[in-house]
Amino acid sequence: MENLETENKHIFQSCDWLEHGIIFDHCNLVRVCCSQCNEGGGRPILIHNYHGEPMDWDNVFKMKKEMRDVQRTGETYAKCKGCILLHDGEWDDENYINRLLLTHWIDCNCRCVYCPAIRDEELKKINKHYDILPVLQDMCNKNLLDKHAFISIAGGESTIYPEFEDMLHLLLDYGCDNLLINSSGIKYSKAIEKGLAEHKIQLVISIDAGTRETYEKIKLVPTYDKVTENLRNYAIAQGDKKFYLCSKFIIVPDYNDNEKEIELWLENSEALGIQEVAIDVDWRWIQKNLNNLQNERRIYELIVFAKKIADREKLNLRYDERASIMRKIHHVKTAVFGGTMRKIKE
Ligand code: SF4
Ligand code: SF4
Repeated sequence: MENLETENKHIFQSCDWLEHGIIFDHCNLVRVCCSQCNEGGGRPILIHNYHGEPMDWDNVFKMKKEMRDVQRTGETYAKCKGCILLHDGEWDDENYINRLLLTHWIDCNCRCVYCPAIRDEELKKINKHYDILPVLQDMCNKNLLDKHAFISIAGGESTIYPEFEDMLHLLLDYGCDNLLINSSGIKYSKAIEKGLAEHKIQLVISIDAGTRETYEKIKLVPTYDKVTENLRNYAIAQGDKKFYLCSKFIIVPDYNDNEKEIELWLENSEALGIQEVAIDVDWRWIQKNLNNLQNERRIYELIVFAKKIADREKLNLRYDERASIMRKIHHVKTAVFGGTMRKIKE
């Protein structure tokens, strides 16, 4: 799927997920996307009750074609109505995957206070882990996966999937070069190390703290030293091009919402050899204060403070989705980071 021919392109409204995306989600469903904040409801389903069975790709692409063809008529597929990810573009008619999200597992070795998945008893009953490796092997063998596909591996915690190392080696050896992994950072992965060294993976570890005490209050596990050591080793692995490892800080009000914690986090990041940092805000706080965000100066000022210290430490600060929303509400022109990774530009 390398150097895919771009014949037969047309210009109309669609989105990358609708055209060439697939998601293995934690409710044992195979979907087109995970976006659900639109009038149509989003998240079109391709397969129900999926547990790792061999994929009938002809049928998957047939179902996707029916959805995609609606866009080609100038109408909007019902589930996609009102979705902000729809945009005018040049789209081809080929069948292949260039957006892949693996989030079929919710177990984690961390217990973040803000994590809904690990506390959702109903979800735990529904979620059944299955081995995704044969599915990926099949996808690669049949050349269905674009080598430059955006691949996001999430969870739960992906490094504790039994098949994680093999899965990542398979994708790297196949030639995939645009992977995003969000990890707790507790378990060190040699496969991630290889991907960082080859500059094919972006790894994001949300440490959320500048001190062990605060880390343990938020994460509820005694693993601060382990995560710090792993961050240092991952930073070494990426070599001189330091765009691939990102340390993140989610502002969790009443836990880490103070200047001292943010300053220590940034100073520690710099000392660990990290160049990329990201800031965000606890989604629960945003939801609770949704109608009053314009008056919530305190959290916004912490975001401004983070930028000031990041500049002082010569770190690149990225505003993730909810931090971008806070900046936008407080009249700062900013792009809202939508959670879909762009190819890292060197
Ligand atoms: S347009 Fe929105 S709802 Fe439709 S597939 Fe794309 S992301 Fe999903
Ligand atoms: S690391 Fe991620 S999956 Fe694990 S508890 Fe924290 S937020 Fe949840």
